[in-house]
Amino acid sequence: MTVSMRCQAMQTILETPNAPAPLEKVALETYVPPAKPSLIGASRAEIAERLAAIGVAPAQRRMRVQQLWHWIYVRGAKNFDEMTSISREMRAQLEAHFTVARPEVAAEQVSSDGTRKWLLRLPSGDSLEKAHEVECVYIPETDRGTLCVSSQVGCTLNCSFCHTGTQRLVRNLTAGEIVGQIMVARDRLNDWADRETPSGGRLVTNVVMMGMGEPLYNFDAVRDALLIVSDNEGIGISRRRITLSPSGVVPNIVRTGEEIGVMLAISLHAVRDELRNELVPLNRKYPIAELLQACRDYPGSSNARRITFEYVMLKGVNDSMEDAKLLVKMLKGIPAKINLIPFNPWPGTRYQCSDWDQIERFSEYIFNAGYSSPVRTPRGRDILAACGQLKSETEKLSVRERQALRAMAMTD
Ligand code: SAH
Ligand code: SF4
Repeated sequence: MTVSMRCQAMQTILETPNAPAPLEKVALETYVPPAKPSLIGASRAEIAERLAAIGVAPAQRRMRVQQLWHWIYVRGAKNFDEMTSISREMRAQLEAHFTVARPEVAAEQVSSDGTRKWLLRLPSGDSLEKAHEVECVYIPETDRGTLCVSSQVGCTLNCSFCHTGTQRLVRNLTAGEIVGQIMVARDRLNDWADRETPSGGRLVTNVVMMGMGEPLYNFDAVRDALLIVSDNEGIGISRRRITLSPSGVVPNIVRTGEEIGVMLAISLHAVRDELRNELVPLNRKYPIAELLQACRDYPGSSNARRITFEYVMLKGVNDSMEDAKLLVKMLKGIPAKINLIPFNPWPGTRYQCSDWDQIERFSEYIFNAGYSSPVRTPRGRDILAACGQLKSETEKLSVRERQALRAMAMTD
């Protein structure tokens, strides 16, 4: 989940030298659906339409949609043949027109502490070009298993401390590619319902939209995907266990509350507009005061459903005790918790991670002011490859990278 780490782009994308970073980037590609589309990511209404298009009688459609939904999202069926409650002819008809394909797993890495990373290959709009790749990371904890999911190839935005931000945006993921990441994780973890475990006992219990990309610049696909993920007749991960991490697209924060209703983790990172303009240039469009107002207005937030504020610890940049004081002051009145993320350095970055004792001082101040302020420490187990490192089997994560990954797992 690097977010850089966890989410860094896995592929080399050309950067434009010397050009001033625009506030937002435009997707270079649009998704071209395959001739035989996957039903994954389609809503019930869309599946019904697709069934209608292949001539399934109106009287049958509702039942067929229910059956398909169950087989796809409860049982994790990978082909229509497995769907034994559907007649043989119907299965053949479905097979002729559709698939239940998920993103292809290009590589998998498993750490001894159970953390897994998958490099997923997604089709490119330009068949001459190499396929795109995004990462998805599973982080098991004693009481939960968190999956960090990507929303874009690249990112619309240009945060100066984030490696993904330096890359050109390639395209938005489709709802199917977003849901597909959860499907892949359940496939690889053998985490679908069966006779022994018809309900409960799942390994993937939480989802964080903290992989590559800005989820609120791919709003419709993210919304459609998360409504499927939280559907309790399917994958069934409740909205309280889904966290969306926006960098501050204020109008879509409001829509997130109204149309999706998941938990928020705001990438705040600075308490003064001047500095935030530099770290998160989108702040020039939606400054801190507007962002915090959207948080105050966020439907359903309460002491039991707090908004998380993510704060990356950058040495000598945003980590002074003055910053800590201002942070506490400005969050007054918002049911909040603060997640301090040790900065994960990347080649060419001008930032460094704050010293560990400074992170602790900062955290302690916030804690004494009444906020939960977890800084994750590594569990002392071995490697877990950072995003962006999956291709290299020999590279191991440094302690700092592991701390950053844990911090971003949002697992308190
Ligand atoms: N685009 C969204 C979600 C993906 S990034 C967002 O910005 O919120 C998830 C988190 O990782 C964000 O809080 C982001 O600011 C943080 N992050 C990005 N690069 C990082 C780095 N190099 N080290 C530590 N955290 C980083
Ligand atoms: Fe990185 Fe910023 Fe994009 Fe998040 S919004 S992925 S921090 S560039």
